[in-house]
Amino acid sequence: MLPVKKKTTTPQQRWARKNRDKLAAACRRWRARHPEKQKAATYNWRQRNLKRWNAYQRSWRHKNRHRTNPILRAFRAANKNTLYAKRRDYRRRNLEQLRAAARKYYRANCERKRVEHDIAIARRKLASGAYTVAEWRLVLRKWKYKCAYCRRRLTKKTATADHIIPLSRGGTNWIDNIVPACLPCNQRKNFLSKAEFLTRLRKLRNYQ
Ligand SMILES: [Zn+2]
Repeated sequence: MLPVKKKTTTPQQRWARKNRDKLAAACRRWRARHPEKQKAATYNWRQRNLKRWNAYQRSWRHKNRHRTNPILRAFRAANKNTLYAKRRDYRRRNLEQLRAAARKYYRANCERKRVEHDIAIARRKLASGAYTVAEWRLVLRKWKYKCAYCRRRLTKKTATADHIIPLSRGGTNWIDNIVPACLPCNQRKNFLSKAEFLTRLRKLRNYQ
């Protein structure tokens, strides 16, 4: 609404400003007398201000989620099979786009995804500890983006997190137990500790 200039204020406007309660009551009476017009006006406004209306509804639902969530849950429980079928059908029809979107997301967030994945695995193995993407990046920088075992050059995509003391032998998932490794080294190291694996690498090199 544009600000009303003093000069152009009509007597009606001045009255309305002083008698807000009376005006509101009059509006209420008018709406009660003309429910159809009131409804049409409301729909009209919503159509013209769809973004604002949707935002309002979203915020209302968010604020009242303790009221809406049980209703939604009940609805989902009652229509479980239909909803599953719908989702399956949607997935089948949009498989390629969904896969492409997932790949794109992974490429953009590969470090975060990897850290999340490692934390999930550590939790499954009942190991304590977690680290952040920032900590992981620091470790990579500290090792100059090279494998801690074979010194192969790594990128943020090819680097994997290796546990110096393996989780299976009581190691933690805290950052001080983690070094960057290339995938072959990580897989070959397996349950060995860092020192044991280095010894084995040295022996292998001597045989060659
Ligand atoms: Zn390596």
